[in-house]
Amino acid sequence: MALSFGVRAPKGQTDMAWVTYDCACGCHPNARYRRGAAEAAHEHCCCGIVHFVGPEALGALRSYLEERRARGEDADVGPYAVHETRVTAPWGGDLPVAYGLPAHLRAH
Ligand SMILES: [Zn+2]
Ligand SMILES: [Zn+2]
Repeated sequence: MALSFGVRAPKGQTDMAWVTYDCACGCHPNARYRRGAAEAAHEHCCCGIVHFVGPEALGALRSYLEERRARGEDADVGPYAVHETRVTAPWGGDLPVAYGLPAHLRAH
């Protein structure tokens, strides 16, 4: 399974990238990245899928998942498969996107 991401800039905020996808659970998780921010933004869907947008998105996703696992928070969803992709920022250029798909999705 691969997610397909869309990007938009909210009205009047050309330095924002809202990166979203149509989740199978029915949600539209939205990671809001501000241009130039040093840290990736993320959204964690109710079903367990997580996506990060911005610099070092993959590393940020891995650390986030490791911390949750260490606290036992993801015992119910099993291990994550991690993927990387890119989207085009509203201001041009590539924005890294990383996402994690759990072995078992939570009920919406
Ligand atoms: Zn949901
Ligand atoms: Zn979901």
